[in-house]
Amino acid sequence: MYIRDTIAAVSTPPGNGGIGIIRVSGEQAAMVGNAVFRPVYDGGLVSHRFSFGAIVDPASGEKVDEAMAVYMRSPRSYTREDVLELHCHGGWLVVERVLAVVLSCGIRLADPGEFTRRAFLNGRIDLVQAEAVMDIIASKSDSALQLAQKQREGALSARIDVVRGFMLRALALVEAYIDFPDDDLGETDLSAILASVSEAQEMISSLLLTFEEGRIMRDGISVLIVGKPNAGKSSLLNRLLNENRAIVTHIPGTTRDIIEETVTFDGLAVRLLDTAGIRHTDDLVEQEGISRALAKIPQADLVLAVFDASREFGQEDQLIFDALAGCKTIAVLNKTDLQQCFVLPDEARFVDIVRIAALSGDGMDILKHTVCRQFLHSVAPDSREFVALSRARHRDALVTAQQHLQQFSCNLKDRNLELLALDLRGALQSVGAVTGQTATDDVLDLIFSSFCIGK
Ligand code: GDP
Repeated sequence: MYIRDTIAAVSTPPGNGGIGIIRVSGEQAAMVGNAVFRPVYDGGLVSHRFSFGAIVDPASGEKVDEAMAVYMRSPRSYTREDVLELHCHGGWLVVERVLAVVLSCGIRLADPGEFTRRAFLNGRIDLVQAEAVMDIIASKSDSALQLAQKQREGALSARIDVVRGFMLRALALVEAYIDFPDDDLGETDLSAILASVSEAQEMISSLLLTFEEGRIMRDGISVLIVGKPNAGKSSLLNRLLNENRAIVTHIPGTTRDIIEETVTFDGLAVRLLDTAGIRHTDDLVEQEGISRALAKIPQADLVLAVFDASREFGQEDQLIFDALAGCKTIAVLNKTDLQQCFVLPDEARFVDIVRIAALSGDGMDILKHTVCRQFLHSVAPDSREFVALSRARHRDALVTAQQHLQQFSCNLKDRNLELLALDLRGALQSVGAVTGQTATDDVLDLIFSSFCIGK
């Protein structure tokens, strides 16, 4: 439910910074501005103009800070309501004091994400775009940011609207016959309905195919480095991180626990996990490290199997082969600076093979590109046509819509118009939940509660 009271919150991150921004939204925004802000120059607050002045406590008249204030009259604001922003010094105490003075005017502290929720409820953005705002803030890689910006601009919403359009056309025709029960469903209208439904089905299917790539662009991938002791796993990790994170020695069995770090390869977030060298050992600590490594293998998006190319393929390498059955794996042949005597058996089980020398860094760029190529293959994200689903919520809603459309196709043979309309309404309901037309308060609460306060 949307109660149109006036809300305020600190919109800059907690802690100390150059500037702290307190945002107010609602009908009382101008009243708050006039009560707490004393402009240095005459003219008061003019919409969409910054003015310089002082924040004062209206109760005592005491000056709290120097500030810039901007008032944005509805509807030209983030929430489409009247909005006031006070830009004061960025110390946490002064920001808290300005917020206290603002709240003392009789308005309330905003809930997490409430400004964006109001932007949604007032029709400025849809639910996909609201979620994209959150993704922009949380982005940790170029690919995540590019995808979030695309969704905020409305690329996915536009596709969803086209799908809805097809469904609405089909439903309008079906309902027309329900309203005139004496008319039989004619061949022309039947084929128009079928055409619209199959267009919708095709578009949903192609959107669902983008989910895996979208999820990866948004959340990144996990890449597990495995191999026998001394193959060069830690050297590889250090090279990929550009720092000496893992201990490198010629003594086998030094890495006991899993070392985890995140980097970006070509703009994609990659969580690298270096593991204990896999071999038969009597050392209990090393055994524990090895079982942890083996347990991680099925969870990884990709495995880098590192082999020492200066030695012959041996029993320990065979252990790695056995552990990797069914996993997406790149064979990384290391130590190519030394005399080569390694022959990789069964090359076909690897998605790719890359030769490197972790000691000198040779082959690192090729390896990074090869990793990315495994996951990002569609249209470039900055191109116009690029659209990808990235949230399970969107995927699940579209899967449900697709099920309703399949049900529609099954019910078609009986020509039961009421049932057909029911299937189409179900599909519309599911698709509408993505962009928010049919989202319930519970769903909105869930989505916006994961926002930060002040957004
Ligand atoms: P890990 O046990 O698999 O983590 O292997 P390390 O990264 O600790 O490396 C084991 C030994 O191999 C160290 O002495 C490294 O300096 C050496 N090493 C690693 N990569 C290379 C390489 O590309 N060429 C050469 N010549 N030695 C390497």
